[in-house]
Amino acid sequence: MKKPSYIMVHHSAVSHDKNPDQFVANNEYHRAKWNFKSSMGFFLGYNYEISKIGLVRQARADGEPTAACYQSLAYRGVLPRWTGNMNDGRCIHICLDGYFDIEKPEPAQVYALRDLLRKLAKKWGIPKGNVYFHRNYAPKTCPGKNLDLNWVRNLIV
Ligand SMILES: [Zn+2]
Repeated sequence: MKKPSYIMVHHSAVSHDKNPDQFVANNEYHRAKWNFKSSMGFFLGYNYEISKIGLVRQARADGEPTAACYQSLAYRGVLPRWTGNMNDGRCIHICLDGYFDIEKPEPAQVYALRDLLRKLAKKWGIPKGNVYFHRNYAPKTCPGKNLDLNWVRNLIV
């Protein structure tokens, strides 16, 4: 276990209109993909997942290795190289159910994200500047074009 010092936000890239609660499906998808069991008995690659109605489920302990960001080198030189391995426990990964290239998080989901970010930031002493999006590390839109990094960072007081 590491002491976490980063938080990364993801989306599931599956519409939460089609499936509002994707934890079970994603856990199964990641079991088939990686078969990487957490200390809590789950296979989900993220630490937390938040459903459309704002239900928060934890699949991996804070500080436990994850399977969430395999783009290990800082993307386009935006981030320093030492932030590279975001799967070794230094980063807590939060996945929001939804496809935020085409839809927006529900208010209940935003409140749940806000409360979780505040709780984790306080517990582990993580500054809001250490909250990142997956797309800061990878040539993808995750967690979706409709989400703005500063808006998410400012959910933390
Ligand atoms: Zn992602």
